[in-house]
Amino acid sequence: MEAETRHCQNCKNDFVIEPDDFGFYEKINVLPPRLCPDCRAQLRLCFRNEKCLYKRKCDNCQKEIISIFSPNKTYPSWCPDCWWSDDLDSKKYGQDYDPKRPFFEQFRELWEQVPKPALVSTRDVDCSYMNLTADNRNCYKLIESSNNENCINCYWIQLSKDLVDCFFTNKVEFSYEVDDCYDCHSISYSKSCYNCLDSAFLLDCRGCTSCLGCINLRGQKYNIFNKQYSKDEYEEKLKSYKLDKHSGIEAFKKEFAHFIKDKPRKFAEITNAVNSTGNYMTNVKNNRQCFHSYDAEDNTYC
Ligand SMILES: [Zn+2]
Ligand SMILES: [Zn+2]
Repeated sequence: MEAETRHCQNCKNDFVIEPDDFGFYEKINVLPPRLCPDCRAQLRLCFRNEKCLYKRKCDNCQKEIISIFSPNKTYPSWCPDCWWSDDLDSKKYGQDYDPKRPFFEQFRELWEQVPKPALVSTRDVDCSYMNLTADNRNCYKLIESSNNENCINCYWIQLSKDLVDCFFTNKVEFSYEVDDCYDCHSISYSKSCYNCLDSAFLLDCRGCTSCLGCINLRGQKYNIFNKQYSKDEYEEKLKSYKLDKHSGIEAFKKEFAHFIKDKPRKFAEITNAVNSTGNYMTNVKNNRQCFHSYDAEDNTYC
């Protein structure tokens, strides 16, 4: 089968269905899509609420709870205690299938009846305001996160400890406002860093210790704005920026933004990706337009 260009029925733009895609649709016995990949992604995202949390009543025990479903929803939402209890018997909502009526109309009727879990949170201990989380301890307001301790207001953090306001971390400890950082300790205001320690305002650095306001450095120590200093000089200069004060942080943010303006940036966060397009991928093969994908093969628009 050859590649085919189709017209999206929603946004009216053309999109291409590759020969491989036709083979896949045939294999799983579904019709080829009538919507383009972007419109399909939008539909999937409409269905997923990760972080808008609402106060409402549990439709079983009537207690005040926090839920991803707002109180005006037409279907019931149960608190985690009720939802995991023997009170929930989904078979109770069983209904006859009428072959003369559309399947999805009937599926919708069933879907409206069956209680939805208020939050998806499993084995979290001493935690609140959590969704899509598991095995966390003493955390508050985490989304899409597991195996963390003492963390507040973070998104997609794993195996991390003592974090505030962080985004996409794995094995990071005692850090503040970092994004896409891995195996780091005591860093702040940093992005795309690995194995860094006691540093702040780093962008795309690896194995750096005691560095401030640096970009694209590998295995460095006592650098400020990518310039080498002695330990004493570094400590003295660090003190002069007054980063223990809000005004010092704000002033440094501006200086760092100006410093990195003309520095080269990595085109994408991709490592060991064969015949693949997308971003944030490690050890992948034949991935087309995939994001945050690890150890994966033969995937498209994921
Ligand atoms: Zn479209
Ligand atoms: Zn309840």
